[in-house]
Amino acid sequence: MCGIVGYLGKRNAYPVLIKGLKRLEYRGYDSAGVALLTKDGDLRVYKTKGKVADLENFSSDKDTTGTVGIAHTRWATHGEPNSTNAHPHISFTGNLAIIHNGIIENYAVLKKQLQEKGIEFKSNTDTEVLVQLIEYVRTKKNVDLLTAVRIALRSVIGAYAIAILDKNDPDQIIAARKSSPLVVGIGEEEFFLGSDASPIIEYTDKVIYLDDKDIAVIRRGKDVEVVDFNNEKMEHEVTKVDLNLAQIEKGGFPHFMLKEIFEQPDCLKDCMRGRVNVEANNVTLSAIIDYRKHLINPRRIIIVACGTSWHAGLIGKQLIEDFCQIPVEVEYASEFRYSKPVINEQDVVIAISQSGETADTLAAIELAKSKGAFIYGICNAIGSSIPRATNTGSYIHVGPEIGVASTKAFTGQVTVLTMLALALGKERGTIDNVRYSKVLTELNAIPEKMEELLKQGDAIKDISRIFTYAHNFLYLGRGYNYPVALEGALKLKEISYIHAEGYPAAEMKHGPIALIDDEMPVVVVATRNVLYEKVVSNIQEIKARKARVIAIVSEGDETIRKMADSVIELPHTEECLEPLLASIPLQMLAYYIAVAKGKDVDQPRNLAKSVTVE
Ligand code: GLU
Repeated sequence: MCGIVGYLGKRNAYPVLIKGLKRLEYRGYDSAGVALLTKDGDLRVYKTKGKVADLENFSSDKDTTGTVGIAHTRWATHGEPNSTNAHPHISFTGNLAIIHNGIIENYAVLKKQLQEKGIEFKSNTDTEVLVQLIEYVRTKKNVDLLTAVRIALRSVIGAYAIAILDKNDPDQIIAARKSSPLVVGIGEEEFFLGSDASPIIEYTDKVIYLDDKDIAVIRRGKDVEVVDFNNEKMEHEVTKVDLNLAQIEKGGFPHFMLKEIFEQPDCLKDCMRGRVNVEANNVTLSAIIDYRKHLINPRRIIIVACGTSWHAGLIGKQLIEDFCQIPVEVEYASEFRYSKPVINEQDVVIAISQSGETADTLAAIELAKSKGAFIYGICNAIGSSIPRATNTGSYIHVGPEIGVASTKAFTGQVTVLTMLALALGKERGTIDNVRYSKVLTELNAIPEKMEELLKQGDAIKDISRIFTYAHNFLYLGRGYNYPVALEGALKLKEISYIHAEGYPAAEMKHGPIALIDDEMPVVVVATRNVLYEKVVSNIQEIKARKARVIAIVSEGDETIRKMADSVIELPHTEECLEPLLASIPLQMLAYYIAVAKGKDVDQPRNLAKSVTVE
């Protein structure tokens, strides 16, 4: 959830740490802090509730020298967001400073034991338990810091990415992870730490992605050493990050979310590059070639995901059932992980997560793996935990998504699922050639059609002004567009804080119609497809109850234009590809309504980009 940054090298650490925290701001947080250490062992900690800019203000008249430091943005799980609970936390001796991302589940037991030994706690966090425990082990057993960390972590249950400084050793940072991401960057005589590579890429493209239960020892003048809890050396490749600065900056847009909405045509081209070949009438996904025998004939497919990725999964189900004739179930990863699923080696589990770090999805993967299922990941963040935990998978390649409300990752996920369904359907012989070619050609044309659609941005902005008054919204769609309605409603909720519900259009009369009146706008995805007439009837039912209707229609639809209050036209495409187009105006509608209401679009309250806690 939160962000971790670390630096050890020849520069002043503070500016590197602050810049790094800003790069991680998209992850969502409520307070920020930094610990700096000078060569003479002067350890300074500054922390405050609020934004990184507040931390900068707070530190502006303070000494921020020191060539080693750790910094943190906190998303409170234990103890309210205030400056005491903000990280770093200091050990009872005053010698150790720690930052932590995650949750220590057995913190209460550990805290009680430490209090019984006379250790006093200053904060209400679970994190402070970690630093006190490590310090207790170190002093009691008279061991070095690495040994103390190894011993202490053996009795810790939970999720963590941590970084620790020792006042008496200004040449070292110790970092460790379990179920929370952590990356070490390696520069010229300098080292970096980050929750992801974005705080690091400005300085170096060489990184080590730590694995669960890894402890990294970062020492001035030495190679990074990684060991496990038993001090066994863990071999790690130094990888090259494929990410540049322009990709993580706003590029002239007022918000990351708008930039990311407008990037979608290019992103989808990247996503399809080297995979979709219209001339050769072929889709190539290396995972399907490499793992054909596991994927060609599963008993069924289970898709596990959360939030927006779950919506993409619902579209994936329709695509796979349509093209491959394999039964598909779509599960919330958070429910799946605690269920007693009947799975075996004949099942394939597809796990979808933008960040590749979603804690619930990772746990669902572990459960499915333990039952022998074959796991296919669909992720965006290269080198993240899910791609490493799965048997195979496909990256969506849409570049870093910074806006908390997902846009381009959603369309990227749907594009990968479409390619997957096409490739698998062809291998299985369950999709006829004519349809295959038609869908393939149309898929290839989607980026161009998206460009056209994005030109309606100003018109959508005008429409959105009318609707800022609303307290509730209903979103309706059918078939392939039902998940689009769910996703449209989620976008609005996330960034404008207006309550919105997505429903299959025909279900309206089984309940939600009771809510409809002139104060409840209804967004209807009503493209010309097999269910068109039925959705037209739904619009009539809504209009009869005086609600305003915003209709997303196929180009040239005069029938609905006469009935609806506002109309947004979509270029024609295959029905199964309509979600890729229909979701664009819904993203823009949510964006412009939220902006008109003055909301913090890129960092909506209470939300985090990468949900690394349960
Ligand atoms: N559980 C810790 C706390 O509440 C860390 C939360 C985080 O990941 O930011 O302080």
